[in-house]
Amino acid sequence: MLVLKDIIKDYPVGDRQFRALNKVNMELHKGEFVAILGPSGCGKTTTLNIVGGLDRYTSGDLIINGTSTRDFKEKDWDAYRNNSIGFVFQSYNLINHLSVLDNVELGMTLSGVAPKERKERAIKVLKRVGLENQIHKSPTKLSGGEKQRVAIARALLNDPDIILADEPTGALDSSTAHEILNLIKEVGKDKLIIMVTHARMYADEYASRTIELKDGEIVHDTGSTVEADKNEGYEPNKTAMNFWTALKLSFNNLRTKKFRTTITALASSIGIIGVGLVLSISNGFSRQLDEVEQDQLVGLPILIGREEMQIGFDRAGATSYIPEGAEENEIVVYDPDMAVHTNLFTENFLNHLALLNEDVYTNMHFEYGYTPTLITERDGVPEIVELQDLGFSTFIVPEEELGEYYTVKAGTLPQNQYEVVLQMDEWNVVEKEVIEALGYDSTETLYYEDVLGKELYVALNDDLYIEQGGIFLPNYGELETVADNGVTVTIVGLVEATGDTVQYSNGGIKYLYELKTTLLQANAGSTICTTQLNSDTSIFDLTNVTEEQKEMLLSFLGCNTSNPFLIQIYTDSVEHKEAIKNHIAVYNEGKDVDDKIFETDLAEAIGETLGTLITSVSVVLTAFASISLVVSSVMIGVIIYISVLERTKEIGIIRSLGGRKKDISRVFNAESVIIGAFAGLLGIAITFVLTFPINSIAVNYDESLANVAQVNVLHLILLVIASTILTFIGGFIPSRIAAKKDPVEALRVD
Ligand code: ADP
Ligand code: MG
Repeated sequence: MLVLKDIIKDYPVGDRQFRALNKVNMELHKGEFVAILGPSGCGKTTTLNIVGGLDRYTSGDLIINGTSTRDFKEKDWDAYRNNSIGFVFQSYNLINHLSVLDNVELGMTLSGVAPKERKERAIKVLKRVGLENQIHKSPTKLSGGEKQRVAIARALLNDPDIILADEPTGALDSSTAHEILNLIKEVGKDKLIIMVTHARMYADEYASRTIELKDGEIVHDTGSTVEADKNEGYEPNKTAMNFWTALKLSFNNLRTKKFRTTITALASSIGIIGVGLVLSISNGFSRQLDEVEQDQLVGLPILIGREEMQIGFDRAGATSYIPEGAEENEIVVYDPDMAVHTNLFTENFLNHLALLNEDVYTNMHFEYGYTPTLITERDGVPEIVELQDLGFSTFIVPEEELGEYYTVKAGTLPQNQYEVVLQMDEWNVVEKEVIEALGYDSTETLYYEDVLGKELYVALNDDLYIEQGGIFLPNYGELETVADNGVTVTIVGLVEATGDTVQYSNGGIKYLYELKTTLLQANAGSTICTTQLNSDTSIFDLTNVTEEQKEMLLSFLGCNTSNPFLIQIYTDSVEHKEAIKNHIAVYNEGKDVDDKIFETDLAEAIGETLGTLITSVSVVLTAFASISLVVSSVMIGVIIYISVLERTKEIGIIRSLGGRKKDISRVFNAESVIIGAFAGLLGIAITFVLTFPINSIAVNYDESLANVAQVNVLHLILLVIASTILTFIGGFIPSRIAAKKDPVEALRVD
């Protein structure tokens, strides 16, 4: 069934060739027990390896059942070893991290036999060699004779036609050697057994035929004792290891190196932890930001000013301002007016705004540019107040919910338009100008009770302005009377801005919007208003004024109650805010840009700025943390390479059982995948645990940071996948190196 025809085997030694076999010819048949004898180095193992398909002949031919192997491909040889050959080695060559049963099953695992059948078959052959009670043991716990029995069982598993034994008794004492030889002879009755031995005694006792080699040549052959069998051609079944088997092999191997595997995984998890933490902190931040936008910033009104800045035309974002058609060497003229869009508050628009669903907003305030004149008393003497200094303004949050944004330190919140409050910060700090503007000496100590009850007087036009020769002049000479006749407002409370929103506003005197309405009504019919309305000259100096200048004068005096220059719409939820913007968008539909109305959503602008900031910071940090991912990838490569060196013998064993090169790289890829997944899981577990101390440290700095680190499950899953992929890449090259190892060399390693 086997014919060796003029087999020559040359080994390259330096730049010469060493001829290990020189024209070896034999014809071997089923049922023979052939002993190959000869001194050390004569070519016995080489012959066996060539017959077994582990090594390739240089020239000649090996004919199996009449089929020449000259055109055999790698996969044909793999299949041949798996189907037809059972190897038994002097040093047993068992895989120590697999159980006896798994060792025996390996050959069938490679040919893809179902687990149940595999196991049954393995137990059957183990019974045959008398080891049925040891199947779950590790090979390391067995005696030499027992190990060789396991090896014989493994060789028998696929019921091969040929058993090749290379000095199977070389490491055994003589009584065990006899047992093993008896076993080989018994199990190989109807097979071809080729056994290398250097003990003529064993050859004489057990073999049916003896071939003697010397210096790579046959010097004696006792000849065949059996009839030649029929040659029916040869077509072995192909082998393939599935990935689960590779995983199992590598998983068991890693179990024997628990400490090293854990340390490796821990080291390569550091990158994962870094990226994981950056992601969870940025995640926590953006969630917090959303909440702030919901809870706090939503109080900020939507602003529709007469003049709105246009994003993208702003000089601050000048990189995006490239005028169309400008040439490369052209000097671009920038006109700041281009950045400003003028909202036309036409009758049409104001009517449209009036139709806004009342459910979606809490308040709508109109500013007409009225600048009231305020009078205070300093040491009993009336004096004009600088409004700017006083921070005299309306609240920028919904007036119905002032309690949510302000903490009252003394007195109360305003109940009507004649009551105002002084806004301070949490340490009672008030700016010097405010104190001075109120009429106090800022160098003297001031207490709550000094300010509570303090009165301010808003002058009315008819009292303040007196006509003299066609022009109007402020009646500063009789300020006391002006103050007495004016509208009195009283400071009823000292408040601290506690809501995040109002912290953006300045301190000073805050009043209810209603006060403005009251004052506008009181001034609307004043003499100065009607005079100015009907004149084309300024009522202050009789100079000619344009329509625009006249408009400004009327606004300043509080005579304008129809053409607002700022509209503020307050609302209570992000959804309602959207509804308001939609309402404006409906108005804009189909209009020219010049006729459109642009609004500003401060809350969104603040949120967007912070959001962009967080995103860019996270990107930079993630990039840094990713460097350690690359480092771990390289480290995994080194570790897998070390593993390849350690498992070289295993590579040889798998190849001798018919494993393909592909199967070998699969085994090591499996190893890196296991380490990568383990590192990933370890990394995300540590990330999760670390979020707790991070949050508890952060909360000490600011209570709103209580949940600054929040893991996102999707991020975690992606990180495990990333870790697995990166280690797979890291282990790829060493796995290829492993696959390319020469099986004969690999088996020779101790
Ligand atoms: P043995 O009969 O002792 O089993 P081998 O078949 O192992 O002998 O070796 C036959 C000869 O070939 C020896 O001289 C050995 O040194 C040589 N040889 C075996 N393998 C190689 C190799 N890979 N490279 C060079 N020489 C080799
Ligand atoms: Mg040898």
